[in-house]
Amino acid sequence: MHTSIPTVPLNNGVQIPQLGFGTYKLSPESTRDLVLTAFDAGYRHVDTAQMYRNERGVGEAVAASGLPRDEIFVTSKLNNAYHAHDDALSAFDRTLEELHLEHVDLFLIHWPLPALGRYTEAWGALEEIYRSGRARAIGVSNFQPQHLRRVLAEGTVVPAVNQVELHPWFGNTEVRTFDAEHGIVTEAWSPLGRGSVLADPTLVRIADETGRTPAQVVLRWHVQRGNVVFPKSATPARIAENARIFDFELSDADMAAITALDRDERTGSHPDEENRTDR
Ligand code: NAD
Repeated sequence: MHTSIPTVPLNNGVQIPQLGFGTYKLSPESTRDLVLTAFDAGYRHVDTAQMYRNERGVGEAVAASGLPRDEIFVTSKLNNAYHAHDDALSAFDRTLEELHLEHVDLFLIHWPLPALGRYTEAWGALEEIYRSGRARAIGVSNFQPQHLRRVLAEGTVVPAVNQVELHPWFGNTEVRTFDAEHGIVTEAWSPLGRGSVLADPTLVRIADETGRTPAQVVLRWHVQRGNVVFPKSATPARIAENARIFDFELSDADMAAITALDRDERTGSHPDEENRTDR
């Protein structure tokens, strides 16, 4: 029996499952089987990207699962080299081919690349893709408020999500607040801080007291705050463990104690400094 996964409404009414399966660093060869493992554990949402080079494996798992297409939520992201309008459109065509799908549920600009300065051009391409029906929702990733302000001023569609680094050691409060004020759902990437936060004594204490694992406690903290999460694991037991977070609740005191762990510590690049277009 799977405990069902709640959904969160996006600003266009599309519902996104609050828990998904992250695929960054899953090898192209292992992706199909691991995504199928995740489906078996109850996940119905998969987060991939052109940059991860594993869209094909995700698509193979969707096909092999036998699940109805409308029960699965698939996100992919535009790679950094394709912010020019025509490049973005053809890169999206390749995404659909790799995934072997007629549409994705969500398509994001992966990084704003402010030094390149073409993210509003890319956003225009995503708006065309959205209007064509081949993405049920569009959004951004790693956008700071100043990047979002330009998209809101120059675009016609408000991004449905902003996918940013967020975990107990990196609360990303300014971005989370900006998103909330503009009806943009915050998706938390590296929700476990790539595993680094799991030995934190506060998390270990709360895990002991609730009879859960530190990973489950952290993921539960995210979902109780309304974040969308997609932890990654290549270990079947952990994939299942990370999905068992909907049958317990953290107290207000535990929630506050985890929120107080914020020490402004990123595991990944700062959005203003990530400027690589070679991947
Ligand atoms: P994560 O926070 O999900 O951590 C993953 C790591 O945590 C694993 O490799 C493993 O070492 C450990 N782990 C996972 N489950 C565990 C468990 N139950 N017990 C103990 N250890 C466990 O990190 P992530 O993969 O960087 O982020 C999740 C997903 O977010 C990615 O796979 C990707 O889909 C997305 N992401 C997006 C961006 C972006 O720029 N948009 C950047 C990074 C990640």
